[in-house]
Amino acid sequence: MSLRPQAGEPDPRGGDCVACGCCCHHGPLTVHLTESDESRMGEELLRRWTEVHARSGFRFVRNAGERCACLDVSVPGRFPCVVYERRPDDCRVFRAASAGCLEARRLGRLGSPIG
Ligand code: SF4
Ligand code: SF4
Repeated sequence: MSLRPQAGEPDPRGGDCVACGCCCHHGPLTVHLTESDESRMGEELLRRWTEVHARSGFRFVRNAGERCACLDVSVPGRFPCVVYERRPDDCRVFRAASAGCLEARRLGRLGSPIG
């Protein structure tokens, strides 16, 4: 499921992200974890929020339908990341107000792969 497209230019410092959530809506096998991501996340969060893809052996953040499982959708209109402080580098390099962000806001979901 995509979100409704978001109007307007987002705050480049990320001030609109929790009210947006578009780039955290995407298909499975989108957010890949490196070894340093795994160390940062730690055993407990890895077990709960990630899985190893059987064919490739790579670890990815789990999906829940058409969004990242780490996106908390319990409050309508709010999209906080439950692992924000320990989120993978794929998410850290994705910048608010970048071309990918603007595309995600236009589509209501991530258009291009993160990274
Ligand atoms: S699409 Fe842009 S504004 Fe929306 S959550 Fe992602 S980075 Fe933030
Ligand atoms: S880990 Fe957090 S920031 Fe990254 S896609 Fe999932 S909800 Fe979004």
